[in-house]
Amino acid sequence: MSSHAGSEGAGLNQPVRPSLGAAAPSGGVRVQQLCKTYVSGNQTLTVLDRLDLELAAGQNAAIVGPSGCGKSTLLYLLGTLETPTSGVVEIGGQRPFDLPPPQLAAFRNRAIGFVFQDHHLLPQLTVRENVLLPALATGTVQAAQEQRADALIERVGLNARRDQLPGQLSGGERQRVAVARALLLQPILILADEPTGSLDEANAKIVADLLLEMQQELGSLLLCVTHNLELAARFERTLTLNQGRFANR
Ligand code: ADP
Ligand code: MG
Repeated sequence: MSSHAGSEGAGLNQPVRPSLGAAAPSGGVRVQQLCKTYVSGNQTLTVLDRLDLELAAGQNAAIVGPSGCGKSTLLYLLGTLETPTSGVVEIGGQRPFDLPPPQLAAFRNRAIGFVFQDHHLLPQLTVRENVLLPALATGTVQAAQEQRADALIERVGLNARRDQLPGQLSGGERQRVAVARALLLQPILILADEPTGSLDEANAKIVADLLLEMQQELGSLLLCVTHNLELAARFERTLTLNQGRFANR
């Protein structure tokens, strides 16, 4: 889980495109018979109903479906932020829900990168500090991680802004910081929930381009919820969620 084969120095001759290294190998996702129900009073809402999904490392897929069909719920389950009602989730050969809570939190931090519709940056921290947050959460920030943060900030085009606060950035710029932060620890799995949903067309394209390019380079697996069919068409697969399952599998 913690051993990354990527060589951080490989990109030093290409300052415009610093190497992003590589995610851990065999970082596929396997979901079997996943169920999620919400119970309130005597009402049970079945959001995910025996859903199956298998994606290999390096793949990318868009998740589409009507509002309320469970797209965010699925992403939160894969991101281990929610617990399944039943079923199996395996990420990079690990069943995260078998882990005790502290190890689950560590696994989530290291193996999974999130990009939400709203950037979720900490307003009192600079761009660079926000990008370094996943490393801070591990207890110590290594010099290589600082270099990597700088490389990512450069890659998303925010070199001149790295000591500024999120409040000084535009919406598109803030979302680019969120992308850089999600990729800091070379996650196996990148989960994006309508990452371009709050952006204008031009910024949406920049953010989508970055996500897809950097996912390819890292060899991570990218799952992206979107309402934008033009964006969905750029992914290798489009998974349509309908009545708790994927319609097109
Ligand atoms: P989507 O992202 O596709 O719009 P969500 O996954 O957010 O849909 O929600 C799916 C359904 O589950 C909706 O009907 C929503 O109201 C319900 N839901 C989501 N979270 C909860 C919760 N914590 N408690 C009860 N119902 C929830
Ligand atoms: Mg949603």
